[in-house]
Amino acid sequence: MRTVLVVEDEPRIASLVREYLENAGFAVLVASDGRAGLVLARTRHPDAVVLDLGLPSMDGLDVVRELRRDSAVPVVILTARGDETDRVSGLELGADDYVVKPFSPRELVARVRAVLRRTEAAARPTDRLVAGDLEVDLARHRAAVAGRPVALTPTEFALLAALAREPGRVFTRGQLLDAVHGFSLETYERAIDGHVKNLRRKIEPDPGAPRYVLTVHGVGYALAEPAG
Ligand code: CA
Repeated sequence: MRTVLVVEDEPRIASLVREYLENAGFAVLVASDGRAGLVLARTRHPDAVVLDLGLPSMDGLDVVRELRRDSAVPVVILTARGDETDRVSGLELGADDYVVKPFSPRELVARVRAVLRRTEAAARPTDRLVAGDLEVDLARHRAAVAGRPVALTPTEFALLAALAREPGRVFTRGQLLDAVHGFSLETYERAIDGHVKNLRRKIEPDPGAPRYVLTVHGVGYALAEPAG
């Protein structure tokens, strides 16, 4: 049975989240502040962490930072509506996804399942990534959409490969810049927008209404998760 650690100071929300996760077949640990959460994370090694960013005594972003010093456990953060800065900071610090409060517990459970799925998929070594009808051949540096090869620049290829490694994961511009770093000397996060635009022109049937590389407003980009 997989274990999820829930770090949330509001008892009502913590018990609601616990109930839904338990009904979904997870074992649940609850901590009501950041320090207790870190202790549980280090001693009980949960498979995933649901972390509220608005915590007493220790800020949720500091908890993410501390966690990431020695752990790759998937983290889903809970953020207040409209707090895009926190959302972006959380992802930059290494959180894997976020849910905006007030949230549907069902959606949270789905996000936890999705990060677990992505973590497991990313851990499997592969030289060919497939997301729906999009194929990225890492060994041969080739990409294809619906069987049709597309010619990409090294930067576009690195960008697409990073996105396709974890379909559905939201990447900030900073994270994508890191992913293409080996191929790019650009230092401005906004440069990513230009590469995304070029990539879309090559792979999207209608670049004005993308179905592969999606914009996540206020945060960055994600590759669409294939249906099913
Ligand atoms: Ca809170």
